Amino acid sequence: MLGVEHTVIESVDLESDGRGGEVLIARVRPKAGVASRCSRCQRRCPGYDSGAKPRRWRSLDLGSTQVFLQATTCRVNCPEHGVVVAAVPWARPGSRFTTAFEDTCAWLVCHATLSVVAILLRVAWRSVSDIVTRVIAARSEASDRLAGLRRIGIDEISYRKGQRYLLVVTDHDTGRLVWAGKDRTGATLRQFFDDLGPERAAALTHVSADGAEFIHTVVAERAPRAVLCLDAFHVVAWATKALDEVRRALAAQLRRTGRAGQATTIKKTRWALLKNPPELTSDQRTTLAAIAKDNGALYRAYLLKEQLRMIFQAELPEAKALLAGWISWARRSRIPAFIRLAKTITRFQTLILNAVEHHLSNARSEATNTHLRLLTRRAYGYHSPESLIAMADLTRGGLCPPLPGRS
Ligand SMILES: [Zn+2]
Repeated sequence: MLGVEHTVIESVDLESDGRGGEVLIARVRPKAGVASRCSRCQRRCPGYDSGAKPRRWRSLDLGSTQVFLQATTCRVNCPEHGVVVAAVPWARPGSRFTTAFEDTCAWLVCHATLSVVAILLRVAWRSVSDIVTRVIAARSEASDRLAGLRRIGIDEISYRKGQRYLLVVTDHDTGRLVWAGKDRTGATLRQFFDDLGPERAAALTHVSADGAEFIHTVVAERAPRAVLCLDAFHVVAWATKALDEVRRALAAQLRRTGRAGQATTIKKTRWALLKNPPELTSDQRTTLAAIAKDNGALYRAYLLKEQLRMIFQAELPEAKALLAGWISWARRSRIPAFIRLAKTITRFQTLILNAVEHHLSNARSEATNTHLRLLTRRAYGYHSPESLIAMADLTRGGLCPPLPGRS
């Protein structure tokens, strides 16, 4: 019932919690076979001393009653790690919660909002975040997420306002997050390649990224044989931004020339212009038809965006011809935002065609990135990029623990 293994339960008592309720206290000790082990390497070591005061670990509730394990800890003298607290079979080192409690908490975090978890388990948000960090550390030690990588995507994800970024690496084949680091810099990306090691870096066949120069530089330096591709997602995002610029400029111009009514209409066209055609509602289709009739430039900008998106669905050599055609069309479009975009696209032509040729679908890693962006927006209560990374590892990195007792 207490969900502990290799543990001797000496006594179980109810005790007042000081607020009119009761808590259950189980006095425990490690079984002889697992006693006197270093909490860092699990090696059996000579004892050093034992703690003066017994410690308590929060365990899973029994019904609505809070349960604590209580034991006197001792320290051991490890030849490698020096004098350290001895390991206990029911909890991770340094934790005030049992392993079963922590795994339950981490599992819940993957499936419910942080506020639900905090209320259900009666723990502070801060504790949840610390628990997640410990669970991730333990579980990533047990599995090597960088093994067998072939095709990866490197992305920058902003969190908080004011240019704070995480650099995240996803596996295109599994869609999993495999690595994340603070700041979008060459140094962060080099850290990933250091963790990966030269042998595994050499096994990478494809790397997709956005247009950031530092990513291209570091990939060329550390994985020179991998084909570098430009993510379709980013290319389409650039076109979407250019289209939005055209729409806003048109609305501003209409307002300046005293046509406020028409400006408002243009303002409302935003979603019709940005959505993919199959997702349009019939009202939005009507809006598009009206734009085609009354605002030639805006409609041309829309077609340019759509055409660019379609290139990623084509095959070589058709895609190559389409891309060349697109660039010359955009150049002659007399729309400043798209003339600028044409320059960018020209510069990245090869990387775009690489993405088309190698069918590097980033749909799965994009789902991961979308989830991470969501994570950064929701009030998930993390107090540092580290805890955000831990949360991302847990929910998208395949590190969510199973619920205790349900193997
Ligand atoms: Zn040790």
